[in-house]
Amino acid sequence: MAITKVWIEEGCIACGSCEQICPEVFRVTDQSRVQEGVNFSDYEDGIKEAAECCPVEVIKYS
Ligand code: SF4
Repeated sequence: MAITKVWIEEGCIACGSCEQICPEVFRVTDQSRVQEGVNFSDYEDGIKEAAECCPVEVIKYS
C-alpha cells in the first residue's frame, strides 16, 4: 500500500534525526513537521526509516 498520510504525534523531542534521513518530508524546528505538498509515495523508504529511527516513535504513516 502506498503511503498517503504522514503525521507526527505529540512527544517529538526535536532530535533532528527524521530531517537528516528524509529532508524532503520532514523539517525540524521546535518540533518535527511534515512538509506540505509532498508526494509521499516518492519517499516511502525514507519515511519508513525515519519512523523506525525516531527515538520516541512519534512518526506515523498510513
Ligand atoms: S526523529 Fe522523532 S523525535 Fe526526532 S525530530 Fe523527528 S519526530 Fe522528532
